[in-house]
Amino acid sequence: MTDDRDTLIAELVDAGRHVVDRGLVQASGGNLSVRLPGTDRFLVTGSGTWLDRLTPQDLAEMTLDGERRAGADRPSVEWRLHQRTYAVRPDVGAIVHLHPQHVLLVDMLGVPIRFTTLDHQYYLGSAGWVPFLPSGSDEVADAAAEAARDHDAVVLAHHGCSALGDSVSMALRRALNLEEAATMTYRLHVAGNTTADFPQKWKGNILSV
Ligand SMILES: [Zn+2]
Repeated sequence: MTDDRDTLIAELVDAGRHVVDRGLVQASGGNLSVRLPGTDRFLVTGSGTWLDRLTPQDLAEMTLDGERRAGADRPSVEWRLHQRTYAVRPDVGAIVHLHPQHVLLVDMLGVPIRFTTLDHQYYLGSAGWVPFLPSGSDEVADAAAEAARDHDAVVLAHHGCSALGDSVSMALRRALNLEEAATMTYRLHVAGNTTADFPQKWKGNILSV
């Protein structure tokens, strides 16, 4: 973790390239943000920004009250999604909001995401869920923030997901693990498997210390 603004921006730029390379968003979908430590502000990607071509000028600086103070003229229409989550989760330093295929696919099949591996348990273990609500609305932002009180990732039905972390790196790792868990859930479902699960006795107790 770092407090340095330029380093935080560089981490967002790298994360944007990575999620597009991995196919977790198409075109200019998705948006990323990072809290500016020691302030009441966060940086969020601008409206219509292509995440694999981010520059520092593509970021809007917002207050936690929702005022744009600097940077890109128009923040992502989904800026409230970030703002409301930061408000309820003071421990969260970065949010990665994506539209990943398998997360959406299993949700549309009505199949809960299964967190079957060590990594899935370590990084997530669970995900919240909210029904479809219009993109950019107060309603979706508030519902996602409410779900984020109990989870480090939230599925937004027919839309995408948000993954949270104390750093850009952790939020990104959670987003990648959510999509991998969803991909494995889909493959288990197609194989007709309904029982594979992480061993119950080790849930919440996966590290030897
Ligand atoms: Zn979205």
